[in-house]
Amino acid sequence: MNKKVDLVVPCYNEEEGLKVFVTETNKIINTIVGYDFQYILVDDGSKDKTFAIMKELASEFNNIKYISFSRNFGKEAAMYAGLKNSKGDFVVVMDADLQHPPSMIPDMVKATEEGYDCCAAMRTTRKGESKVRSLFSRNFYKFSNKITDVKMPYGAVDFRIMSRQMVNAILSLSEVQRFSKGIFSWVGFDTKWIPYENVERAIGTTKWSFWGLFKYAIDGITSFSVAPLRLISAIGFFISAVSFIYIIITLIQALVFGVQTPGYVTTLCATLFLGGIIEMSVGILGEYVARIYMESKNRPIYLLKHTNIEIEDNKADKE
Ligand code: UDP
Ligand code: MG
Repeated sequence: MNKKVDLVVPCYNEEEGLKVFVTETNKIINTIVGYDFQYILVDDGSKDKTFAIMKELASEFNNIKYISFSRNFGKEAAMYAGLKNSKGDFVVVMDADLQHPPSMIPDMVKATEEGYDCCAAMRTTRKGESKVRSLFSRNFYKFSNKITDVKMPYGAVDFRIMSRQMVNAILSLSEVQRFSKGIFSWVGFDTKWIPYENVERAIGTTKWSFWGLFKYAIDGITSFSVAPLRLISAIGFFISAVSFIYIIITLIQALVFGVQTPGYVTTLCATLFLGGIIEMSVGILGEYVARIYMESKNRPIYLLKHTNIEIEDNKADKE
């Protein structure tokens, strides 16, 4: 019997490219024998005609399933919804903009035959990406690999095939604020990496702003590490120790030589410096408190509006 592979594709405002994506991907998957592919297109609250196109595609091809959200919940939520609604023996996660070349799918499938639980793509170049973004992201990976337990190779992208066992492991992590790059690595399992050259987005535009990426980086670190909290404790400890020595020196000076009034510069510097450190510490603490706050609400990761997938959970919302 053929093995089943689900292709989970998060889509946000992809009206221009979705049909091309399906056409191009079909060309590849139709050549792979022994596997049945099914698309799970996730419309992440698109404001354009993405959803209408999905329905059109679903009526044209019977292996196209769709899920549509009530609003935009972000790519992480879209990937989660896709994984949750998948039943295949394997699941491929890929972008809808053809930046994740479908031509890599046969090699990924082959890797699972070699016994890997996961086969993921790794970008070797960042051609077409802004210098600032590349620099920022390279340093983010360096930094985050140093301070967190999860190792995310630089250039690792979300494009990958995963076994059912690995998908179930990922779904068992129920956090609402999801950082998939970290989650993929945290769950473990044998992963094969296949390098590829960055492909520029042919149609449509990227949904990332610089600020968005910055927040994503902070999320990544706070999701998987408490190192920043340790850092502020260490800074506090160091400053206390230095201050203690300075207090002793000042006291001795005052006792031996009497009080010397000038001290404007020292006072000002100490106040400003400590003020800065305290603000920073409260900020870092706040990041973690905010995460606890958001998690404690236990809100759903996404809200469904339409789907043509028959799964118990979805029945009430089915069209
Ligand atoms: N995406 C999504 N929800 C969002 C933003 C993006 O589902 O809020 C999808 C998007 O349609 C695409 C994938 O996530 O399929 C990657 O997005 P994009 O191409 O904008 O990111 P980049 O390739 O620049 O990292
Ligand atoms: Mg893209």
